[in-house]
Amino acid sequence: MYTVEKRKMIYIISRKPTWFHTHCLTPTPGTPLWHDPTWVIGDCELCRMDIDNQDWWNNCSYNQSQRKFYDLIEKDLKVWI
Ligand SMILES: [Zn+2]
Repeated sequence: MYTVEKRKMIYIISRKPTWFHTHCLTPTPGTPLWHDPTWVIGDCELCRMDIDNQDWWNNCSYNQSQRKFYDLIEKDLKVWI
């Protein structure tokens, strides 16, 4: 489990967003269509999905997106540079 603080720390160190991956395509046809939801740092190794694609699949507004969290960190960091 990645807490908000842990995700923030990973992002500051690696610049890679940690996000909850609910739409990982299974490599072979058949059911279930998606792998079990899992946490991913950066891009998914299996399907190469990134956080923006996951937000798209979630069909959420920007305010509900996982991307927003990292945009806000990015803004915070710029204040200190
Ligand atoms: Zn995936």
